[in-house]
Amino acid sequence: MRVAALRCFFCSAEYPPGLLYFCERCGGTLEARGKWDAAALKDAVAGANRCGDRRGAWRYREMLPVSDRADPVTMGEGGTPLLRAGRLAETLGHDRVYLKNETVNPTLSFKDRPMSVAATKAVGSGLAGIVAASTGNTGVSAAAYAAKAGLPCSIYVPAGTPSEKTRLIEIYGAKIERVAGNFSDAWRRALEDARREGLFNVTSTYLNPYACEGDKTVAYEIFADLGEVPDWVAIPVGAGPLLWYCLKGFRELVEAGIADRLPRMAAVQAEGCAPIAKAWEAGADEVEPWGEPATAAGGIADPLAGYPRDGTRTLRAVRESGGVALRIPERDIPEYVALLARTEAVCAEPASAIAVAAARKLRESGRLRPGETFVAVITGHGVKDLDAAVSHPHLPHGPSAPAGR
Ligand SMILES: [Zn+2]
Repeated sequence: MRVAALRCFFCSAEYPPGLLYFCERCGGTLEARGKWDAAALKDAVAGANRCGDRRGAWRYREMLPVSDRADPVTMGEGGTPLLRAGRLAETLGHDRVYLKNETVNPTLSFKDRPMSVAATKAVGSGLAGIVAASTGNTGVSAAAYAAKAGLPCSIYVPAGTPSEKTRLIEIYGAKIERVAGNFSDAWRRALEDARREGLFNVTSTYLNPYACEGDKTVAYEIFADLGEVPDWVAIPVGAGPLLWYCLKGFRELVEAGIADRLPRMAAVQAEGCAPIAKAWEAGADEVEPWGEPATAAGGIADPLAGYPRDGTRTLRAVRESGGVALRIPERDIPEYVALLARTEAVCAEPASAIAVAAARKLRESGRLRPGETFVAVITGHGVKDLDAAVSHPHLPHGPSAPAGR
């Protein structure tokens, strides 16, 4: 995609493509807009691959915001399996359940898709390095892709971040900057540093309009593997750019005449940090920041303090698709981690496993009807958060599936 402009999501102001993260008029987050070739998307979906033997996310290069000359910084991200989850489906009481297994990406989460785009963009634009605020998957992925690109990388983490999480980031050679306060303080420091030093800020809220485009490839792949648009796609959300950009991906498939409808999007949050679900339940137009997160789902524990409009952007995508925003009780989270591992042998982090819980909730409310297709995006591997997965008291050990409720 040749990026022609960065457009504000909230007020539609347009800016020339450059190193801009916020609308100068209203402070809103941006979206990369540009021309792309529908025939190339069609070829990529069909597997024709007229541009050679590209694999994974870069098979959809036409749709990514990089120049034709750019040499992708890639480690084989994307191209992840869409698994038919038969044993899990039996337990959930719904027969067409699929898992988009993002845990098999190079650094074990979907973040490798946007980070591959970000690193490619940073190299192509001659930027001096990469910064991000993160305590988890984003930091690890950014550090890895910076290493692959040969760029310096700094990751801002809240001072209280446990060393298990920072160790992986350091293995890839990134510099850890510990910031007094919480994630929002780290978020601000990364922003200041990027501005001062002219670095690429890849913090994985809606901040970086180029990196986020990489998330669309999840939608293309689901469609290509399923051969149709699923009825429901459930995605665990913190700020929620993966959900928004997945919907954008499906919308592009419709625009290209390849698909004929959009899926309904389910935004899944944990009860201990659920600003978007709370706004959805209240019928509110705007998402309010959450207080202090208290959840086992660390990967999506984002209170949106300082950038609640990120949540509003996600809420609007949910509504546009005719979907829902759900919150899953904290006490149920370990059950879903164990259920996924014991029925489908997918080891997911708690934040990812709750995507599966949406199937049960949607069935109970009658929104997911018999025969409809449900896809849960399993965003990250459980190995980074194993404590949550073991010692769940309500489940038998061994190969048999626990009974549904
Ligand atoms: Zn604006």
